[in-house]
Amino acid sequence: MGHPSIHDHIEKNRPGVARLKVRSAVTLMLAVCLSMMVIVIWETWNSRQYHLHDKEVAMSNLAQTLASQAQSSIKQADTLLFALVDRLENEGIAPGQLDRLQRLLGAERSELSQIHGLFVYDENGRWIANSNGAEVGGANNSDREYFIYHRDHPDRGPHIGPSIKSRSSGEWIMTVSRRVNHPDGSFAGVALATLYLNHFLQLYDSIDMGDNGVINLIADDASIIVRRPFNEADIGANLSKSPLFTQLLPAASSGTATIRSLMDGVERVVGYRRVEGYPLIVFVALDKQEVLASWRKQSMLSAGIVAVLLGFLGVLGFRLIKLMKQQDRVQTELLGTQEKLLELNRNLELLALEDALTGLANRRQFDLFIHSEMGRARRNVTDLALLMIDVDHFKAFNDQYGHLAGDECLRKIAAIITDHIKRPKDLAARFGGEEFAVVLPGTDYVGAFLVAEKIRQAVLTAGLQHSESPEGRVTVSVGVCGHGPASQAQTDDLIGAADKALYVAKASGRNMSVIAN
Ligand code: GH3
Ligand code: MG
Ligand code: MG
Repeated sequence: MGHPSIHDHIEKNRPGVARLKVRSAVTLMLAVCLSMMVIVIWETWNSRQYHLHDKEVAMSNLAQTLASQAQSSIKQADTLLFALVDRLENEGIAPGQLDRLQRLLGAERSELSQIHGLFVYDENGRWIANSNGAEVGGANNSDREYFIYHRDHPDRGPHIGPSIKSRSSGEWIMTVSRRVNHPDGSFAGVALATLYLNHFLQLYDSIDMGDNGVINLIADDASIIVRRPFNEADIGANLSKSPLFTQLLPAASSGTATIRSLMDGVERVVGYRRVEGYPLIVFVALDKQEVLASWRKQSMLSAGIVAVLLGFLGVLGFRLIKLMKQQDRVQTELLGTQEKLLELNRNLELLALEDALTGLANRRQFDLFIHSEMGRARRNVTDLALLMIDVDHFKAFNDQYGHLAGDECLRKIAAIITDHIKRPKDLAARFGGEEFAVVLPGTDYVGAFLVAEKIRQAVLTAGLQHSESPEGRVTVSVGVCGHGPASQAQTDDLIGAADKALYVAKASGRNMSVIAN
């Protein structure tokens, strides 16, 4: 029977274990995929932040550089203005000096390429002198912003006004001006330097700012002085409502941020800085989408690679799980087969105790039975008897009627024997060939002899034809042996004694029962 307890244990737990195995594999797969996705998303996000930060630093550096450049360009012009104002105030403008002044302005202007012109106006806005050497006759600039500013503001610092198109040359210029005073401090006129906007634009255009990048030079009053990309309409536009003026500048005079432009609605990564010593702000900005374009390309690439990897992993995992399920099915089938084999084995074991021809107990069962009954008889101090029955002249029967008829004869004799043992404890067995044994527990040799005689008589009266027998019918001889309560004999002794009695019966003429002595 094997080990039913272990088998049952396996059988009970197997489906659970298998289900757990497959579920663990699926969970592991999902966890790996999910982790990879989380890592990629995290990496992508980090890289985005890094890209933006990197550009903010670049914008901050660029703002610093351009602020320096603007400052030095303007300072060069302003230094000339400062000296010019000092000279005008101390030496006055005598008619003889005008020529000299005019020549001086011309000489100074040609020293500095960014300077478009140097001009002096009196308190009524009339041209007094200019670097271009042109006739200054009737021209009047009292309507210009810088003139009005200095007339109305007593401060002596440099003033940068809105950019304008020059009346003398038609070029876009930036104006840097200083007020000239009479000795009593009243307004005496304006000294003006004009700078080519192109001087700034050429530099700004040489910087790679992408398609949508912006560089602005903005006055303190929020009006645009120069803007790249250049567009005439933008010059002088007011930015006081932009985040630069509403949020950034009130917080710090330089910095970086990401803001949406008031002018074109584009979100930009910006850097800004006040120009030291002048009422100017440098503002540089890159289109955020352009900044992120390279990041996006890189992210798409890594996402693509991860997607391929995930797909590969998914296919592998799917096949693995399929294999596991398959293996599981095979295991289940194997266990089913094993169970069937065990059942078959049990049947075989049962069969192995029975004689196939007669249906009586076989030799093996006889051995087991007589052994255990001998033990019981000895323990319980009871009787036990054994009959050995042998068919007479059976070889001759076979020879005469054939082997199949012999088999049929053996079956009939077996039935007769079975009919004559009535107690449930009795056992009839086929001992071998045409020899039968009957074990009769609790029966002494007298009772056994009676059973033997009944069987012998019954075989005789059955009248099974046997022409080669002296009786003309099939007969049997029986050896009877009793095992008394006090006997010390062993199983083999009992069988030997019954055999001997049978031999005596044969020798004495057959068809008789003989008790062993
Ligand atoms: P005796 O009267 O001395 O017992 O003579 P016998 O011929 O019966 O004894 P012997 O031992 O010489 O022959 C026994 C015969 O029984 C031999 C064999 O052919 C036959 N036999 C044994 N088993 C079977 C069986 O299963 N079927 C058939 N048909 N014959 C069997
Ligand atoms: Mg025999
Ligand atoms: Mg015989």
